[in-house]
Amino acid sequence: MSDQKLPQKQLSPLWFTSSDSYPSLKGEIHADVCVIGLGGSGLSAMEAALDADLSAVGIDADRISGGAAGRNGGLLLAGTAKFYTQAITQLGRDKVRDIHRITMKEIQRVHHRDPDLVRMNGSVRLASDDTEKEDCRKQLDLLREDGFSAQWYSGVEGEGVLCSADATFQPYVLNQRNALRLKKRGARLFEKTPALELDSGRVKTPSGNVFAKTVVVAVDGGLEQLLPKLAQQVRTVRLQMLATAPVPSLQLNHAIYYRNGLDYWHQRPDNRIVIGGGRDHDSQAEKDKRIDTAAADPSEEVQNYLISLLQDVVGVPADTLITHQWAGHVAYHSADLPVFKEVQQGVFVIGAYNGHGNILGRLLGRETINLSRGKPTEITDLLKT
Ligand SMILES: Cc1cc2nc3c(=O)[nH]c(=O)nc-3n(C[C@H](O)[C@H](O)[C@H](O)COP(=O)(O)OP(=O)(O)OC[C@H]3O[C@@H](n4cnc5c(N)ncnc54)[C@H](O)[C@@H]3O)c2cc1C
Repeated sequence: MSDQKLPQKQLSPLWFTSSDSYPSLKGEIHADVCVIGLGGSGLSAMEAALDADLSAVGIDADRISGGAAGRNGGLLLAGTAKFYTQAITQLGRDKVRDIHRITMKEIQRVHHRDPDLVRMNGSVRLASDDTEKEDCRKQLDLLREDGFSAQWYSGVEGEGVLCSADATFQPYVLNQRNALRLKKRGARLFEKTPALELDSGRVKTPSGNVFAKTVVVAVDGGLEQLLPKLAQQVRTVRLQMLATAPVPSLQLNHAIYYRNGLDYWHQRPDNRIVIGGGRDHDSQAEKDKRIDTAAADPSEEVQNYLISLLQDVVGVPADTLITHQWAGHVAYHSADLPVFKEVQQGVFVIGAYNGHGNILGRLLGRETINLSRGKPTEITDLLKT
């Protein structure tokens, strides 16, 4: 089925609220660091630059957190996009244990700073069949052997492995709040300012240039369009979500990851359910026409799949109102690991989190400033295959 227009409902994320706006760049501006892309990852890089006493300019083609960073499922998960069992096969046990530890610490850090926007409610990887259940059992054993808190979950939705250190959050408000913090510390932030050309030391935008010794490209969806040299490994994909009106008859305590992470949902404190996934039901997932913008159009085939999942698996009553339907772009990497490297002198790239960038993006944002200053970055080595 091809994309179709969806009637009624709000085609914007549940998370979007009124927020501060920032000017677009006009003229020439100089800084130590220029960050391109102001989602969670770019904002984290800006903060690290300020922490290192560097002056920082940030530009976004659209608006702060208007891309995947403000359109996602709101899950804060430890580890990489692969489950613990599969990640071990790829990276080895020691690395996977260390990545898990570092990413768990990052979740705690995000929670500690904004406890009103982050809920430490844990996640359940819910088994959709016997094969997945077996992998859940293996995952549980490995996590416990490595000293992480995990337990077997058995609840109304089914069985799986519960990781209590995972969390859920309000992504858009959290990123907007972080942007305001940066502005107060002297960072210069610009919206509606796309990077058109990148050279070492200069970023060209429609009405001005940024001159900076270090340039950080912190773009997830659309990364290969800005940097075509990455197109061999990186591809942009559309992911979709919807949100319901409050469902007080359900009380879901944890974030749920289902069908090996293809589907995911959780219930908000106001009892709304947010649910996303069904990428494998999206015949147009990689052919969205509007890939030049942070937004993407939701499609009827995936939204219908999500509605059937809501009713058949989550247990939401059939007459529940769907209030929001939306989509966003993310980048996937052929090796299932994020991009984190200097692509030309002074130009550092982070992105392609394989749909799992809320925590990894923040970590890499910070680490990329260390990398640019020649400081050791623990995570770089860990993410190498
Ligand atoms: C529907 C959906 C559900 C998801 N669910 C989860 C989840 O539950 N947990 C999780 O961890 N991850 C999830 N993800 C993935 C996660 O949202 C992303 O990996 C993460 O937000 C990436 O953040 P970022 O800051 O790196 O990039 P982005 O949020 O993509 O930000 C990049 C910014 O760069 C800007 N930009 C692009 N091109 C240019 C240019 N040329 N010049 C200037 N600016 C430019 C964009 O406007 C955008 O604001 C989901 C993603 C989607 C779409």
